[in-house]
Amino acid sequence: MELERFKELHTRFFGKELPEEVLQSEEYEAYEAAIHENEACYNWAIVEKLRSKGFDSQNYCCLMMADKVYESLDSEGDIKYDDPEVIINKWDEGFYGIPVHNGSATMVVINYCPWCGTKLSK
Ligand SMILES: [Zn+2]
Repeated sequence: MELERFKELHTRFFGKELPEEVLQSEEYEAYEAAIHENEACYNWAIVEKLRSKGFDSQNYCCLMMADKVYESLDSEGDIKYDDPEVIINKWDEGFYGIPVHNGSATMVVINYCPWCGTKLSK
């Protein structure tokens, strides 16, 4: 899908309660597929989302990391410790870790980004 076409669909579909017939439509399916299969569309959608939330993605090695760190925070900007959806944490001290969901605040510190391989500076 062309990025321009994707942007158009994104404006129509994103963040809205969509009726079942829209969710079943070919247009919506193509939009969903583009998010997962088209890197340009995916990247654009992530940047758009983070920008609309006021989250600065500039300081991250890649968009995947920025998005996953964003997803790890609650509306106050604090780390969500008990959420099994959270797959990465970033601490104020500047290190990153993978949370172990065993009911405690255990985590495994990582030195490289799991998505782009960049060395994570401390
Ligand atoms: Zn990265």
